[in-house]
Amino acid sequence: MTVAKIHEKIIPKPSLRKKIEELSGQKISACFQCEKCTNGCPVTFAMDVVPHRLMRMLQLGLLDEALRSDTIWVCASCETCTTRCPNDIDIAHVMDTLRQLSQREGIKTAQKSAPIFHSAFLSSLRRHGRVHEPEMAVVYTLRSGGLNGLRKQAGTGIAMFRRGKIKLLPPRVSAGRQVKNIFKKVKK
Ligand code: SF4
Ligand code: SF4
Repeated sequence: MTVAKIHEKIIPKPSLRKKIEELSGQKISACFQCEKCTNGCPVTFAMDVVPHRLMRMLQLGLLDEALRSDTIWVCASCETCTTRCPNDIDIAHVMDTLRQLSQREGIKTAQKSAPIFHSAFLSSLRRHGRVHEPEMAVVYTLRSGGLNGLRKQAGTGIAMFRRGKIKLLPPRVSAGRQVKNIFKKVKK
């Protein structure tokens, strides 16, 4: 879904905005598009609608478009957006609510890359005890878009590295062994 396509068919539906506000318990109308959620989200590279734009869609009542977005399935529920929101909107919970609603209404998404994304996410988590975003982004991009995809995303990665947004070395996590044990138990 492109932003251009979203803009083409905007017909505000306040009742649908109220519906998702009631279901999530979050005051979505309070969002003033500061973009802090998007700027902190570690997986925007795999989203078709970044978090602050998704919030805008919901404000306009474009609920069906939100439910069909890849974003709600790509969201890793890390809650970074929630902790950054100056209006105390629990965006991670909104994402969760959208996933539940999507399943309840039997909505089929065009999302083919979700399994690839989840695999890249989990394998990075298993190796390091927490997600190492650059590694996950490279693995995901290679598997979903091949070398061409990687070439297209390289500029964004380099720019983020220069701005200090991503670190090349994986994080040191004290509970790394415990995380590995959890994976072993689940596998058994
Ligand atoms: S909870 Fe989802 S949308 Fe929010 S920062 Fe984490 S991955 Fe991004
Ligand atoms: S951080 Fe909060 S107020 Fe800012 S764009 Fe995201 S949801 Fe809206």
